[in-house]
Amino acid sequence: MMSAQPSEILSARPAMKIPFAKVDCSGNEQKYIAEVLQSGWLTTASKAKELETRFAEHIGVTHALAVNSCTSALHLALEAVGVRSGDKVLVPTMTFTSTVEVIRYLDAEPVLMDVDPRTSNVSVGIVAAALDANPGAVAVIVVHYGGQPAPMGNGARAGIVELCQARGVRLIEDAAHAFPAKLGQRFVGNFGDITCFSFYANKTMTTGEGGMVVTNNDELADRIRTMRLHGIDRPVWERFTDKRSSWEYDVIAPGFKYNMPDLNAAVGLAQLERAEAMRQQRQHCAMFYRESLIDCELLSMLDCYCEADEHSWHLFPILISPELNITRNAFIDRLSEMGVGTSVHYKPVHRLRYYREEFNFRQQDYPGAERLWESTLSLPIYGLLMRAEQQFVVDCIKQIVAESRVSAPVSMPLDLKIMQPADCS
Ligand SMILES: *Cc1c(COP(=O)(O)O)cnc(C)c1O
Repeated sequence: MMSAQPSEILSARPAMKIPFAKVDCSGNEQKYIAEVLQSGWLTTASKAKELETRFAEHIGVTHALAVNSCTSALHLALEAVGVRSGDKVLVPTMTFTSTVEVIRYLDAEPVLMDVDPRTSNVSVGIVAAALDANPGAVAVIVVHYGGQPAPMGNGARAGIVELCQARGVRLIEDAAHAFPAKLGQRFVGNFGDITCFSFYANKTMTTGEGGMVVTNNDELADRIRTMRLHGIDRPVWERFTDKRSSWEYDVIAPGFKYNMPDLNAAVGLAQLERAEAMRQQRQHCAMFYRESLIDCELLSMLDCYCEADEHSWHLFPILISPELNITRNAFIDRLSEMGVGTSVHYKPVHRLRYYREEFNFRQQDYPGAERLWESTLSLPIYGLLMRAEQQFVVDCIKQIVAESRVSAPVSMPLDLKIMQPADCS
């Protein structure tokens, strides 16, 4: 099919308004919420329990524990593996701040790792070098950036799992982007000691706010189950259903208030039923973006080394070349003027003031993350994004690239406002 020039398409078509994210609650969400309201028990009870059972079955793990956020999940995970004050925990700099703040909750020390600029994930080499440089580190947190699993190892090829096992270092996975995702046909959730998922509103599956901790280790599961609800030796729900008197409980540690209410779990149950269908919709969108933008000079995309149907496709970042005569921020503003919402994942943690000042992180130590930070923006990708809207996003991007393809010596300052053609939206 011959494609028209981007400018013709844009002027011939009414402008669209495309948000960066949109939640799809078209399944049984309302029905299950009504059941919770009718039951009269709104906080943690049978719906949360059912979500745990279904989620564990879905990804094939022994234990799934529902909590009120992925941040809570990560905090519980670090606490359960025994991270203590002053311990070093390795974590990639290209992540959301919550992956790192939980290390500080325990008064432990974050050691930031750079990422591979081709994938935005840590590589086996990066983790190995960080472990060599920090022989006392007690744990590694891996982030599966955008939904592409980091190289954990898959039987045939040794990966981060084997590295950590060989050194007796605990491995926690921040899988906030990686449901449902697989590596070598095994679901993410089956690699490290503990894996944490997010059900925040704009994640691949949502409960509004929520998260899940999964593990195949019975002892870790017991600790997390206790600590997520005040350190009480048995959950409230069981107190009202088992034979011991309901008021009787004991506390074994100063735990947290991290349980997931049934109102949220109801939404999660409905979302889980459609998780694979929604993943496929995002995959179609991702494939369309890839095909449409692959030949676009001065733009690139992350390397996809996993099978397309093992990727959860939570994010779709594009990387703009420094040779384009437009900054990443101006590119975002221009897309926004045209009606396309985007976002940036992430401003690396070493650039955030608290971490920079507290731990003296320096930009030159993170060249991979710096390269990404300067050039990355994330496109809308969700099941409700229609093909015509995807095409519109592509057309807008091509239009901006065409506008910005101004060849001039880099050293010569240019007034971009003068150089740019008139607004076409
Ligand atoms: C969203 C996100 C989190 C936090 O999830 P919450 O459920 O909002 O606590 C943690 N890590 C990453 C990488 C995320 O994208």
